[in-house]
Amino acid sequence: MNKVPPKIRSSKSSVLGLTLAAILIGVGTVIFLFNPATHHFYPVCQFHQLTGLNCPSCGLTRATYALAHGQFKAALKDNALFVGLLGVLAVRGAWIGWQRWKGRSHGAFLPTKYLGWLLAIAMVFAVLRNLPALAFLAP
Ligand SMILES: [Zn+2]
Repeated sequence: MNKVPPKIRSSKSSVLGLTLAAILIGVGTVIFLFNPATHHFYPVCQFHQLTGLNCPSCGLTRATYALAHGQFKAALKDNALFVGLLGVLAVRGAWIGWQRWKGRSHGAFLPTKYLGWLLAIAMVFAVLRNLPALAFLAP
């Protein structure tokens, strides 16, 4: 009788996931503790420095700080796209959790077929927030 040894799963994805989680928790803690509006050690947006225009992520750090402190309106003012995407990701995460709980299969958390749409939405947002008529979208 030949015994088949059990397959050993690669731990590379686990290490990568744990590393990303540790980085997110570390960055989140720094943003939570130090207000980006009053502490100036945060990196500045190079696109904004060069052009004077707002990119899709301008205001993201301030929006994160505002959300972490329960200031939803301030977060929307700083970066409405980020707040909206967080909401979409939360709904997606809840849906996947529900599917897992029911024992049903589900796709990837963020299917690659939607990345093009995400990029297009970010580009449209970048254009809109630089229009004088839509200045309320600027941080
Ligand atoms: Zn920017």
